[in-house]
Amino acid sequence: MPPQSGSTNLETLPSSGRVHVLGAGPVGLLLTALLQSVEGFSVHLYEKRREYTRTRMVRLGSYLVADSVESYRDDHIDGENIEAVFDPAELDEGLAFRQSIPLDLMTLLRGWALGFCPLNAIERSLSDLIDTRRSNGVQRTAAVVSAEDAVAMLERGDILIDCTGSKSLLRDHLAAGSDEVERGTNTLNIRLEYALVITFLYGQTYDCNEYCKYYKNIENAHYKFIPMVHRTHADGSVSHVTGIVNITAEDYEAMPSRFDGQWLRSNFPDVAQSMDRFIDKIKQETHGEVLGDLEILRIPLDLYRARNATSRQWLTAGHSNHPFASSPVFLAGDSAIGSPYFQSISLGFECAMYLAGLVAQRDLPLRETFDRYELYIYKQWLRVYMQSKMIKHNKDLFECVDDPLALLDKLHIY
Ligand SMILES: Cc1cc2nc3c(=O)[nH]c(=O)nc-3n(C[C@H](O)[C@H](O)[C@H](O)COP(=O)(O)OP(=O)(O)OC[C@H]3O[C@@H](n4cnc5c(N)ncnc54)[C@H](O)[C@@H]3O)c2cc1C
Repeated sequence: MPPQSGSTNLETLPSSGRVHVLGAGPVGLLLTALLQSVEGFSVHLYEKRREYTRTRMVRLGSYLVADSVESYRDDHIDGENIEAVFDPAELDEGLAFRQSIPLDLMTLLRGWALGFCPLNAIERSLSDLIDTRRSNGVQRTAAVVSAEDAVAMLERGDILIDCTGSKSLLRDHLAAGSDEVERGTNTLNIRLEYALVITFLYGQTYDCNEYCKYYKNIENAHYKFIPMVHRTHADGSVSHVTGIVNITAEDYEAMPSRFDGQWLRSNFPDVAQSMDRFIDKIKQETHGEVLGDLEILRIPLDLYRARNATSRQWLTAGHSNHPFASSPVFLAGDSAIGSPYFQSISLGFECAMYLAGLVAQRDLPLRETFDRYELYIYKQWLRVYMQSKMIKHNKDLFECVDDPLALLDKLHIY
């Protein structure tokens, strides 16, 4: 990266100036919508896609729009993790920030927290909201931004927020306050499993619980189709069903990244049979039909975090002539943390809220701003790590529930 001449480290965040948000996915858009109403900042938003085309149904956690600590900790498992990780004052601070969110934005968030919504509907609504607000226009650039572009665009005191998703543009650049960029050095990655994510529409109301998962998989000795908790959603008489099937690394390598039910039946009949058995049982029970085709993705389910979610290392490494020493950088959304069992947008939205609140406190020493954001990201990581590991462990047990010895091998009791 080219050095910026004549710059010295910043002491605090600037009281006005430019904020560059890289990536207009859900998290970059939410951050932009939040920062747009902060006086003194002009927001520049960069996005490489021309259109929002991701139609997959996603669900936001209701804790995002909680108005009390009780409703924030509504989920009994997540609620206990939250209590273990966060101090009461931190929870109060988060709730106070929610109450300051402009009504136009809060109304959207409340709507999405009620049920499922296509990802591109969230993206479009946020994007439209940003464009239609009268005050404080956001400057948009449609382009693929490279790491070099990102550095070159910085003027002293600019804030740079990387929301470019799981393949984050700048994560590796924040590692050790050094020009040597080694891929992956700033990422702690835990690969939980490889999975097929199978989605379909079903022409009846269908809801699933743990008994349903068990009885509908009883003849599936090897591959089990597991609809996710809260991943079936009835929209009128149509249910959106998403389930996962654990596959081996070899299966994963032999599959294209995206395919339909027919491809699976022809190429992986054992996996297809377990899925079809499950779906047949749903049909026997509720007398409906699958509408259209199955959409199948094969993905590695990775639980990861950026070891540094800010340019704090650049400040401490004493590179006073490097742009990252005089222009703070933050990672938000999938750039910073990824959780595989699909709580990610809510997690990214929460981190975006926290970061927007922090960036607006301009009298804080920069070091403290960095420390607070790093600590917050770390706490969110602990929360999501505990929850994801528990889900994975329960899945592992479920997958061998009819084989007591295999089940006992997986238990660690006292
Ligand atoms: C099958 C599947 C189902 C899921 N279901 C759910 C769910 O139900 N609930 C949930 O919470 N999450 C779910 N997720 C996860 C969720 O989609 C992500 O967590 C979320 O999209 C992350 O948002 P983001 O804005 O951080 O990143 P992204 O959505 O990845 O957005 C990044 C943006 O940056 C842009 N960009 C990237 N690089 C550049 C560049 N160099 N220059 C310019 N622009 C760039 C991209 O075009 C993109 O618009 C699911 C994921 C998958 C794969």
